[in-house]
Amino acid sequence: MKIIITLGIIILSISMAESQDIGYAKRIIEKLSSAEFKGRGYTENGDKISAVYISNEYHNLNLLPLNGKSYFQKFSLSVNTLPGRVSVKIDGTELHTATDYLVESSCPSVNGRFQIIKTSRSQIDTEEKFASLVDNAADSFILIDCRDKKNEETDLSKKIDEYIKLLKHSPQIAIKGVIIYTNDKLTWESSTSQNIRPVVIINKELDLNTVNSIEITVDAKFKKNYKTQNVAGFIKGTSGSDSTLVVLAHYDHLGKLGKDIYFPGANDNASGVAMILNLAKHYSVNRPKYTMVFIALSGEEAGILGAKAFTDNPLIDLKKIKFLVNFDLAGTGDEGIKIVNGSVYKDKFDLITRINQQHELLPKVDIRGAACNSDHCLFYQKGVPCFYIYTQGGIQAYHDIFDKYETLPLTEFTDYCKLMIMFFDSITHPI
Ligand SMILES: [Zn+2]
Repeated sequence: MKIIITLGIIILSISMAESQDIGYAKRIIEKLSSAEFKGRGYTENGDKISAVYISNEYHNLNLLPLNGKSYFQKFSLSVNTLPGRVSVKIDGTELHTATDYLVESSCPSVNGRFQIIKTSRSQIDTEEKFASLVDNAADSFILIDCRDKKNEETDLSKKIDEYIKLLKHSPQIAIKGVIIYTNDKLTWESSTSQNIRPVVIINKELDLNTVNSIEITVDAKFKKNYKTQNVAGFIKGTSGSDSTLVVLAHYDHLGKLGKDIYFPGANDNASGVAMILNLAKHYSVNRPKYTMVFIALSGEEAGILGAKAFTDNPLIDLKKIKFLVNFDLAGTGDEGIKIVNGSVYKDKFDLITRINQQHELLPKVDIRGAACNSDHCLFYQKGVPCFYIYTQGGIQAYHDIFDKYETLPLTEFTDYCKLMIMFFDSITHPI
């Protein structure tokens, strides 16, 4: 009996070791964040190339298609893209895209040279000052020096934010564009609409006293009802129970900014995809008791739209989900993990903490309440018990061109994966 148990443990540890092959995770992340995948956005078929790659991995791991026929769940979204020329010159000097400046992703097409009218946040703190600025800036760009912005939510600060919003978006104002001059880190977002005028964010030393003109070229393309897809597969459980465990990770990222710049999104969220594929690799060998469902979602950066498509048209009974975990930002871990919904499902949080302590895996497991900040949110709103887990510490790169494979630490990836396997196994076999 003892021999059999020992043998069992040896076999289990061999399969655990195999399944946390960091090499596999690294290959996935390197691949998904390479130039070939175009930042996994909606130009040059970035999303489709990524979806095909993930579906091939599902196939190799013997996952079954969740809808019975194909791994793809198609849906459409509207998105503004900047697939062509993007360039900005200030007084004839070309700025470096994505390191010196960004144009907001909602940017419309524009091509021309414009005069710059300068102001600062403190100079637009009354309606009179705001009105006289606008009157004097017809056909020009307004540069707002935001370096004096304090991180305080005063009424005045909110009022100035409202004026800036009007400058950016109001059709009643005759200006050509807006420049936000800042010393904050440049961070890009995705946009599902196209603005009426360009907004340029500059973080580069300029002599504001002499700044006079901007030459800007942007080729924008608004894509209405662009077809994209979630990628969903499963491994059938051995128990015959119709309950499921679900793991999610969004595979989309911000795509490209012009022809040359792409956003690699190694941590956000090639790392999460690597996590669910690593789990799939483990459970394809160690068949789970409950059916395990693996969903790589599109459209997260555009407003958790892949999760919306799935929860509006679920391919499985949402009521039968025993537990769901969303992995988004899985690539660091120097300061452990944080668990959104940890205080909502405290018994599960305590379970993870206990396993982590027993096996001395991650340096820290932090708790957080509910937050609608990633894909799990729409499942949670439909009553699905779930966590969203992200790693902490390590790198600062986020929604910029520096979120790349080469500098992603993956400090705790192996232990993180072990912890999750033991967590799912403990749900299956309560201690
Ligand atoms: Zn993300």
